[in-house]
Amino acid sequence: MAPLRTGSNAPPAVPENGPAPRSSALAARATHASRTYGAGDTAVTALDNLDLDLPAGRFTAIMGPSGSGKSTLMHCLAGLDTLTSGRVFVGTTDLASLSDRDRTILRRDRLGFVFQSFNLLPTLTAEENITLPADLAGRAVDPAWFDTVVAKLNLGDRLRHRPAELSGGQQQRVAVGRALISKPEVVFADEPTGALDSKASAELLTFLRSVVDDLGQTVLMVTHDPGAAAYADRVVFLVDGRIVRELADPTKDRVLDIMGRLGG
Ligand code: ADP
Ligand code: MG
Repeated sequence: MAPLRTGSNAPPAVPENGPAPRSSALAARATHASRTYGAGDTAVTALDNLDLDLPAGRFTAIMGPSGSGKSTLMHCLAGLDTLTSGRVFVGTTDLASLSDRDRTILRRDRLGFVFQSFNLLPTLTAEENITLPADLAGRAVDPAWFDTVVAKLNLGDRLRHRPAELSGGQQQRVAVGRALISKPEVVFADEPTGALDSKASAELLTFLRSVVDDLGQTVLMVTHDPGAAAYADRVVFLVDGRIVRELADPTKDRVLDIMGRLGG
């Protein structure tokens, strides 16, 4: 364990007008994570002894060429797939310590998911789609949190609409609302802007950004889009199942530059 920091070893104080100090807690973590599919000559190593910390209250993007292990990493962190070796934690919970049933409950209660294709139920209104996870779990929705999320996503005047009556960007905001309704410890977003035009993408990313900054949520996003990755606090670059670069406070140009060097 690291010694307690005291006296002159203490970290510098945050300047009075500086940003609020970020929590140092980890929302999720992978250690020595490997995932191999198949066996023998045809075995594929999708994750190769990878270590990743996801700090709580931050927005992390994952980039990398097709087949580099982005989806596998996200699925293993979310308990949708299991590692061949290594460990994955959500908070302090080791996912391998859970039964299949308890992993399912953890996903439902502690994680949120946003997909490229929205995955809303067409017969339900926006409000019903947002509250669906809680309704299915037989849990009451916290009305104050519901109002906060709806206001943050600017969906107040869309709650009675069905998905077909909403734009793609609005539908994806409903999907983000659904992901947030359980106050998850991590929101996993797999190419959330992949089906949106550039204007709707920029809006959605601005909303995701504010969900992190204003509501303290933790977001992990897979994206191919350097402009999208630039909304994150940090970009992690995967090649062949390994983290080969990390970039803090990314800009689109710096992401493009690194992608060029990595041959992504
Ligand atoms: P990415 O999301 O970065 O495109 P993936 O995580 O989907 O990459 O895949 C990483 C590697 O693992 C690829 O070579 C892929 O073919 C392989 N792979 C992923 N899932 C499976 C699976 N269920 N069975 C066999 N191989 C898989
Ligand atoms: Mg993928």
